[in-house]
Amino acid sequence: MNNNDIVLRVEDIHKSFGGNEVLRGVSFDVRRGETKVFIGPSGTGKSTLLRCINQLTPPDRGTVWLDGEEVTNSGARINYFRQKIGMVFQNFFLFDHLTALRNVELALLKVRGMGKAEAREKALTELRQVGMEDWADHYPAELSGGQAQRVSIARALAMDPDVILFDEPTSALDPELTREVLEVMKKLAREGMTMLVVTHEMGFACSVANEVLFMENGVVAEQGSPDLLLHDPRFTRMKDFIGRID
Ligand code: ADP
Ligand code: MG
Repeated sequence: MNNNDIVLRVEDIHKSFGGNEVLRGVSFDVRRGETKVFIGPSGTGKSTLLRCINQLTPPDRGTVWLDGEEVTNSGARINYFRQKIGMVFQNFFLFDHLTALRNVELALLKVRGMGKAEAREKALTELRQVGMEDWADHYPAELSGGQAQRVSIARALAMDPDVILFDEPTSALDPELTREVLEVMKKLAREGMTMLVVTHEMGFACSVANEVLFMENGVVAEQGSPDLLLHDPRFTRMKDFIGRID
């Protein structure tokens, strides 16, 4: 593999809370344009791992690199890296008192220092990407969960990220709304966005993921292409887990 293709490198990440060792050495490389899906039982450190990558939770040990630059221990540069490593959460985290457009514009104005007209143009472009342009002037309370999640994806896209981390983006949604969010994520993957996705949606994993990483007890227990993990008899733990969630 050409080293230049690697956009994100995660190396030997460890994290404990009190005496609870949640991540016990997690490493992987992400190539540009790749989608990796993380699955595994609740409490195995999937959310903690994503939070360690963008330093919302600083790891105890280990290194994260973005485009060859160290994200861990980056001091004030962390604000730059947080723009370049987008994050989408289960519960959207939109500001209730701001319209969809204003939610997407906010960081463009405040963090990137864009002028009003340019920020508005860019925010509308990103809302169009997720099929939410017609809802620009609506408040979060007026949106379905699926629409709100699409706005939060537009907000991440507005920072022109190198990679977007999705933490169970559809777990709060019923099946109909889940589908519309997964369709947007599939489109982003097709267009070459680099994505790490924690999800239990195996249909999505099988159709979109270049690699599935099965986490158990704070380590990556099994990893490989969806096809390999599901059909090669050597890989049993992930299949057992999937059998339990289906
Ligand atoms: P997952 O996303 O795989 O369900 P998490 O990363 O959320 O797992 O949590 C892994 C473990 O770390 C859990 O036991 C959880 O209680 C613990 N944990 C996560 N965040 C904190 C925190 N801020 N303080 C203390 N314990 C935490
Ligand atoms: Mg979680």
